[in-house]
Amino acid sequence: MTLAPNSLQARDIAYTVHPYTNLRQHEQQGPLVITGGKGIYVTDDDGKDYIEGLAGLWCTSLGFSEKRLVEAARRQMERMPYTHTFAGRSSEPVIELAEKLIGIAPAPIRKAYFVNSGSEAIDTAIKLIWYYQNARGLPQKKKIIARQRAYHGITLAGGHLTASLAYTSSGFDLPMMDRFRHVTAPSYYRYGLEGESEAQFVDRLADELEQLILAEGPETVAAFFAEPVQGAGGVIVPPKGYFEKVQAILKKYDVLFVADEVICGFGRTGNWWGCNTFDIAPDLVTCAKQLSSAYLPIAGLLMSDAFYQVLADQSANLGTLGVGYTYGGHPVAAAVALETLKIYESDHTIEHVQAVAPRFLERLRRLESHPLVGEARGVGLIGGIEIVKDKATKEQFDQQLKANAQVVAKCLAHGLILRPLPGDTIGICPPLIISEQEIDLLFDRLEAGLDDALGVMPMAA
Ligand code: PMP
Repeated sequence: MTLAPNSLQARDIAYTVHPYTNLRQHEQQGPLVITGGKGIYVTDDDGKDYIEGLAGLWCTSLGFSEKRLVEAARRQMERMPYTHTFAGRSSEPVIELAEKLIGIAPAPIRKAYFVNSGSEAIDTAIKLIWYYQNARGLPQKKKIIARQRAYHGITLAGGHLTASLAYTSSGFDLPMMDRFRHVTAPSYYRYGLEGESEAQFVDRLADELEQLILAEGPETVAAFFAEPVQGAGGVIVPPKGYFEKVQAILKKYDVLFVADEVICGFGRTGNWWGCNTFDIAPDLVTCAKQLSSAYLPIAGLLMSDAFYQVLADQSANLGTLGVGYTYGGHPVAAAVALETLKIYESDHTIEHVQAVAPRFLERLRRLESHPLVGEARGVGLIGGIEIVKDKATKEQFDQQLKANAQVVAKCLAHGLILRPLPGDTIGICPPLIISEQEIDLLFDRLEAGLDDALGVMPMAA
């Protein structure tokens, strides 16, 4: 590949280090430079348009040209560009945002703490849970359980919950801390046993969780973290009854439920929260991404009053709650998030998701008739497909082949951006504002990409 030395591509290769990227390969291929966006589309520096089939990184719910968010940022920047939230300082956008969030949050959530990213929200949750258990006089109660294929960010603590080798462990010598455990991900398609019904699968997973808590000693287990729909681990939608059984066990052993709503929050599953869709009553909630439609970085850690009261007493004993970030509760980001929530209400975004989701899910399920697709699963406007070599046996392709990445590359050529995920899956998660016609176009392009990939894949005989 020869690039003009002053091209964006050449300068990116010269100066930029990219996350989740094969850096040597990148030196050969260069970046896809996105220069503009309108609605659900983005444009590259060659002027080619793409449907953003993953809403960036599951986040640009209102698409790429929402002027009201630009205006909200401009207004707040002119008025008061920065104050922090340390030592009791606050700002109007932070107060209004917290009030609005608590107004829509799942019960029994009552308070909001602001940070800048999903990872920070998770990390702060872990720290505050340990602080909370110490405050309760239960210093042994520190272990945290997550599920395999979870994605809970990549900080040193959160990275221990994000179990997938593809994301955190490879090359980093994790895990280091002995406080993290994992149970099976609730994918009946992939982990259901021969002859096992879905209900039996749910019972087995609930039992696995209970046995783990008992083996570790309930007095050592502090919390369970779960995405209502596991997103970056391959879009795993839990079977019916799964969270009901899980919650009963957690209650029995005084284990906190942390709902990681970083992807599911704000309409993605057809309700405000994944917790609403799956009947979860969380002790803590992490949220980010669609909180501001990703126009500015902001995330929240939301907590129940019972949890807050323990923190408040302990901070009075110790003199402070010793966690905070310079930009946590940034007033401009908070103003944009507040405007985002107002738009969801005034534009009836959740109702829109409910109205178009049947079309999305119908087109998604239709993909199961494609020879490469073992399972197509989804809820609301989030979907995933699992690529297989043999549909009858569910056998997967050799991982070296990166079959899902090949499909994603073919889709890109057809003007559709998607993302390969672990377990040879592909995530589909368009902006929430997508219309039915655009859903059809998205799936037409995805089918074309799958057909192209079929031609080059070594299928089972
Ligand atoms: N939790 C979940 C469920 C996520 O999907 C992500 C990011 N994809 C995170 C946490 C981490 O968020 P961030 O990348 O903003 O740190």
